[in-house]
Amino acid sequence: MKLSLNIQPLNSWINIKNEPLIISGPCSAETEEQLLSTAHLLAATGKVSVLRAGIWKPRTRPGEFEGIGSIGLEWLKKAKEQTGLPTAVEVATAKHVEEALAAGVDILWIGARSTANPFTVQEIADALKGVDIPVLVKNPVNPDLSLWVGALERINNAGITKLGAIHRGFSSYEKSAFRNEPMWELAIQLKTLCPELPIINDPSHICGNRELIPYISQKALDLDLQGLMIESHIDPSVAWTDAKQQVSPAALEELVDRLSLRKAESKNEEFVDKLADLRKQIDKIDDLMIQKLGERMAIVEQIGIYKRDNQVTILQVNRWDEIMQKRGAMGKVLKLDPVFTEKFLELVHGESIRKQTLIMNEGKAAANVAEASAPVTVETLPG
Ligand code: PEP
Ligand code: MN
Repeated sequence: MKLSLNIQPLNSWINIKNEPLIISGPCSAETEEQLLSTAHLLAATGKVSVLRAGIWKPRTRPGEFEGIGSIGLEWLKKAKEQTGLPTAVEVATAKHVEEALAAGVDILWIGARSTANPFTVQEIADALKGVDIPVLVKNPVNPDLSLWVGALERINNAGITKLGAIHRGFSSYEKSAFRNEPMWELAIQLKTLCPELPIINDPSHICGNRELIPYISQKALDLDLQGLMIESHIDPSVAWTDAKQQVSPAALEELVDRLSLRKAESKNEEFVDKLADLRKQIDKIDDLMIQKLGERMAIVEQIGIYKRDNQVTILQVNRWDEIMQKRGAMGKVLKLDPVFTEKFLELVHGESIRKQTLIMNEGKAAANVAEASAPVTVETLPG
């Protein structure tokens, strides 16, 4: 997949008051009093660069609070006048875009449910043609990088160059401590595809609870994401939406104070030399690992030929158990995470079995099938 976006650097379109960039505000604008009091306290922390508030809420079930609607835009305008904070709202239709623009909203974001639907994204993109406003695109609900990329492209194709992404985690069938699985690898893949694209992390929607927000926030910064969008409410316990994950402005301030900002690069010579030295050592070990894997596979091939000629099955469960146990114990001594050791061995074993399958079926039609198939993983094999 290729991604070439025409974008402007983040600091040219957001005035970042303090590093890291913090976008904060309630999940939903509920009342004028709630929004204004939250905004004032957030502004007073000096740590917040943008005030967010949901005006139109995409709810999973009908009958839940679906947002206060257009009147909330007036409150946001007041909040901006009184605090000086630029404002951000979620838009999901062309009409939302028109209303938000008319009300002087500074930044628009596209929600996770909207990103998952190219028709919706295109409708928003069409409404944005000829408009100069920053747009942040949340990842889609499902872990599909192409959908996320596609939405960014549609908005960029409409001429929006003040563009960023928001990583808010992905819906998963598995039970987990998180409301939405972070699946960091997708954010990293997006960053790799387009290093100039700012990615902001949304720990509130990833966590679904207040307790884990500091951990996810720190991890996002350690992975060099460009900022955080954190939901904050004057009194989270009575919030109309996402009550469990919102934090008070005071808690937000404390949370941000505790974050460590680590730099992506350092100019300190001693550090650079030491890092280069450590990387050299890693390169050496990686070379050795690949070489050894090659040697292992060559032996595996010999075993395959031997088994074929002696009519022995490929998989001998006892042998596999022995490998797992011995190497697992060794990994533990070396302080390797047992899940990591197991996954690594399974991957190597899967490839060994794939190679032996090819040898066993050499000359037979089945070999073509094995060749064409993706590497076999242990889960797909008996035993
Ligand atoms: C929100 O930011 O309040 C929201 C609805 O988020 P998401 O689109 O990530 O679910
Ligand atoms: Mn929310």
